[in-house]
Amino acid sequence: SSSAPKKTTFGPLADEDRIFTNLYGRHDWRLKGAMKRGDWYKTKEILLKGVDWILNEIKVSGLRGRGGAGFPTGMKWSFMNKPSDGRPKYLVVNADEGEPGTCKDREIMRNDPHKLVEGCLVAGRAMGARAAYIYIRGEFYNESSNLQVAINEAYAAGLIGKDCCGSGYDFDVFVMRGAGAYICGEETALIESLEGKQGKPRLKPPFPADVGVFGCPTTVANVETVAVAPTICRRGGPWFLGFGRERNSGTKLFNISGHVNNPCTVEEEMSIPLKDLIERHAGGVRGGWDNLLAVIPGGSSTPLIPKNVCEEVLMDFDGLIQAQTGLGTAALIVMDKSTDIIRAIARLIEFYKHESCGQCTPCREGVDWMNNMMWRFVKGDARPSEIDMIWELSKQIEGHTICALGDGAAWPVQGLIRHFRPVMESRIAEHQQQARA
Ligand code: SF4
Repeated sequence: SSSAPKKTTFGPLADEDRIFTNLYGRHDWRLKGAMKRGDWYKTKEILLKGVDWILNEIKVSGLRGRGGAGFPTGMKWSFMNKPSDGRPKYLVVNADEGEPGTCKDREIMRNDPHKLVEGCLVAGRAMGARAAYIYIRGEFYNESSNLQVAINEAYAAGLIGKDCCGSGYDFDVFVMRGAGAYICGEETALIESLEGKQGKPRLKPPFPADVGVFGCPTTVANVETVAVAPTICRRGGPWFLGFGRERNSGTKLFNISGHVNNPCTVEEEMSIPLKDLIERHAGGVRGGWDNLLAVIPGGSSTPLIPKNVCEEVLMDFDGLIQAQTGLGTAALIVMDKSTDIIRAIARLIEFYKHESCGQCTPCREGVDWMNNMMWRFVKGDARPSEIDMIWELSKQIEGHTICALGDGAAWPVQGLIRHFRPVMESRIAEHQQQARA
């Protein structure tokens, strides 16, 4: 309630509050082991409580989408809760995890696949869906194999399929493997690919909840979002709401990679300070905290933040927006002082250039331009005025494209200029001096 005292400290998460109990693969991931760890417990009761009850628990929990956009999950799922017009409804699980730095969904599917399968059933029930399609990144061979084993086990045990768990509800789960395109992680490109077409994003509207896969109402949801749903239903929305702070609730998987002593994936309380996360779980920055240069906090599309911002920032949606970046996929890429920061961002822009589907001009042409300019900035082979020019170019891409890939390419450049403009300027000056010598 509003009279509850506001929390000011966050984390560490107690073991009994972890949802992903096999994150490190130390236990049996098969059905027997999963059931021992609490999966598939009273799933029938959850299903029988019905659509409104599940939707309400998810709304109360404050869960927001874990794929990057952070849309309130309960509200998104309720868009499917409309009178049927005869078309079947589908849940599509986005398991195409391709954002550089991100590997949280991979760990779920590899080590805790039953959480996702049960999540599909619970989320599917909340949407009145007929089936779930899990669109998994093609490179995740072992993960799709584990997932398929888990699905087969669930069918054999009567947990999914006809009359799931004895609830009278029929629900199928299918796995579809992608073929290596980053853009297929965009929900409408993913739908196109699922339909057997080229993965090119669709103009919205119509939104997938109206016209999704095979022309039917569809909700596309991230693996982690779906996988936490059964635990939220079992332990109750208020339990999940008790972690983190207002509008930023729950537990969350974080990936920490780059220049840390112990790169890892960890489940922690939302809103944990970035510094605590790195020091407590990743063994600290290589060479000590003072050796930190910058962190990309939420996968490659989120602008970097320099060390002084990293000191205080909380790892949640609002904290990172305040810091002019974003939570994104909650994948931290840590860079110490040995990093050539211009080169690091140039390398990311090259990635976006390669992955652009090419159907809108600002992205197809603009990201290519940015890539060319960035590699000249790496050498310092540019005029100082071109820094303003690439900033302007990034602004012309941002918000002017069909999908978010354009924004994702523009933001890292903006973050670089916002915080490291003097580094870019001095490299240009050095280059000019060398040319004169
Ligand atoms: Fe394709 Fe880029 Fe346009 Fe997205 S923004 S639809 S990737 S061209």
